[in-house]
Amino acid sequence: MNESMLEKIKKAGVVGAGGAGFPTYVKLKCTAEYVIVNCAECEPLIKSDKYLMEQNAESIVEGLRCAMSCVSAKNGVLAIKYKNKSAVHALEAAVSGKENVSIHLLDNYYPAGDEQQIIYEVTKRTIPVGKLPSEVGCVVINAQTAYHIAQAMEDKPVVRRNVTITGAVHSPLTITAPIGTAVAYLIEMAGGATVKDYSVIIGGPLMGRVSEDPSNEFVTKTTNGIIVLPTDHELIRKKTVSLEQEYKIAKSACCQCNYCTLICPRSSLGLGVQPHKVMQALTFNNADVLIDGNAALGCCNCGLCTYVGCNMGLSPSRFISKMRSELLAKKVKSNHEPKPVNPFRDDIKVSTKRVIQRTGLTEYDIDVPYVDSYDAPRAVRIMLKQHIGAPCEPVVLEGDTVIEGQCIGQIPEKALGACVHSSINGRVVNISKDYIDIMEA
Ligand code: SF4
Ligand code: SF4
Repeated sequence: MNESMLEKIKKAGVVGAGGAGFPTYVKLKCTAEYVIVNCAECEPLIKSDKYLMEQNAESIVEGLRCAMSCVSAKNGVLAIKYKNKSAVHALEAAVSGKENVSIHLLDNYYPAGDEQQIIYEVTKRTIPVGKLPSEVGCVVINAQTAYHIAQAMEDKPVVRRNVTITGAVHSPLTITAPIGTAVAYLIEMAGGATVKDYSVIIGGPLMGRVSEDPSNEFVTKTTNGIIVLPTDHELIRKKTVSLEQEYKIAKSACCQCNYCTLICPRSSLGLGVQPHKVMQALTFNNADVLIDGNAALGCCNCGLCTYVGCNMGLSPSRFISKMRSELLAKKVKSNHEPKPVNPFRDDIKVSTKRVIQRTGLTEYDIDVPYVDSYDAPRAVRIMLKQHIGAPCEPVVLEGDTVIEGQCIGQIPEKALGACVHSSINGRVVNISKDYIDIMEA
C-alpha cells in the first residue's frame, strides 16, 4: 500500500466518478491482483469518457499505474468498447512500452460498464453478491477517476469533469465543466431546449434520475450527462409514473413470461437475480416465491428488464430496486453462491443500438462534439455531499476570498467522505448545510 499516494488522492477529493462517488482513497486501501479501468461508458448518448480518453490517454494510464501501486496489483487493464476507435488508439499509444498494462476490448452492449460484467469480461470471475470486487482480486475504477488520480499526483484536486449535454437541445455538446456549474447554464450553452415542456435526466438515460427541479441542479463529481427530453417522452413517463400506479397495472398485466429474467445481465452471470419472481411475489402477494432476498439483492439497477425486456410495458427494475433497498435496510444478506455463467450469455447480450431503439432515443443518438472554448460560469454551487459518506464540513466563511483548487469543505473527523474544493476564483457568498456558493469577485 502506497500511503503517500493514498494521502494525495484523499487530499484531492477523488471519488468514483462513474457511480455513486465512493471515496477512492478508501477503495484503494486493499490488495488486488487486477486494477481495471472502466472505459466502457455504456449508457447511451453519453460521450464524456470518450473525449476524456481521446484527449488524456496518458494521464488515464498514469492514474491506472498509481492505483496499481496503491493495491500492489500485478495487472492493469483498460476495458474499452472496440467501437470507440479513436479512444482505443489513444490508449494503445499510451500503454505502449509500459509493463503489466493492457487493453481489453469489449462488445458494444449494455451494461458493459457494470462492475460484475467488466470483471467477468476481463478475468472470467464473478463476485459473490454483497461482496466487494477485491474478494475476487479486482479493483475497478472509472476512466474519469483514473484521470483524477493522475491529477492528484500533481497536487491538483477535482475541480472539473467532462459532461455531455444532449437530447432535445439545439446544439448537443460535451465540455469539461467546473464542478458546481448550474445545469440550467449548461443547457443554455447547448443552445437551450428544443421544446417548451422538457424534463432533465441527470446521468445516463437508463440509470440517471429525472430532476424534480432542473433550475436547482449543479454539476457534481459524478455528473457525466445531462439529458434533456420532452416531458411527454415515454422514457420520462416510465421513470416518473408512481409506483402505486405501476403496481395496479402490473397486477393485471404481468403474465410471468420470464423474459425480464432471461434478459437480465446479472442473472446470466449466475448471480441469482430473478425479476419475474419479484413481480410474482408482488402481484400475487406471494412472498413465498422469494424464500430469501437472492432474487433481488444482486440487481445492479441497470433497467434492462424494464426498458428492453418487458413487452407488457412494466417496470420490474423499479420494484426490484425498492425491494433491494428494503432488504439492505434490514441488513438481509445474500446467501446465494454464484452459479455457472449462462453458456448463451454472449447471445443474450443486448446491443446498445437496441437499447436506444427501445427507449425511443434514436433521434438523439448523434455525434456530440467536444467544445473546449466557452464562457466559464461566473458562479458555482459546490455541494457538500458529492460522494458516499458524510457531508463535508465547510472550512471557509461567508465573505472569504477563495481560489480555484482551494479546499472549502473537509471530511468530518473519523467519517467516510471526500473533501471538496472551489472550482473558480471568487468569493464565498453563501453557506448552507448542503452547499457553498461562490461568485467570481
Ligand atoms: S414483468 Fe414483464 S417480462 Fe417480467 S414476467 Fe412480467 S410480463 Fe414478463
Ligand atoms: S435492473 Fe433488471 S435487468 Fe438490470 S440487473 Fe436488475 S433485474 Fe437485472
